Amino acid sequence: MKDGFLEPHDPGAFDDIPVMPRPDAPHYDFIFCPVCKGHGKHNLRLNAYLHFQPPHFQQMCGQCWGWGWVEKGSRDETCIHDFIEQPLGMCRHKLTCVKGCGKSFEVDSSG
Ligand SMILES: [Zn+2]
Ligand SMILES: [Zn+2]
Repeated sequence: MKDGFLEPHDPGAFDDIPVMPRPDAPHYDFIFCPVCKGHGKHNLRLNAYLHFQPPHFQQMCGQCWGWGWVEKGSRDETCIHDFIEQPLGMCRHKLTCVKGCGKSFEVDSSG
């Protein structure tokens, strides 16, 4: 629990979230994402909404981008990434994992 929100290891974090089907890529070896355990997202707050189904406030998994699976042996399996964001100008940002796995990528927030 962090700032009042559930984290993936908290009880109830995966309530009402089915496990994602394995990605259809026969030449790759996939295993469950180490963060979301195959769910692709987790609940931040249970029963946050009255009129939505499911009623939980949820967040996509940043480790597997919602796939629920990662490639076996990849740094997505071995490193639980923790990204910091650096502005590059013109709405572009660079995200770099601070845990030393070397993963980084650029995002464009201009839409
Ligand atoms: Zn995940
Ligand atoms: Zn990492």
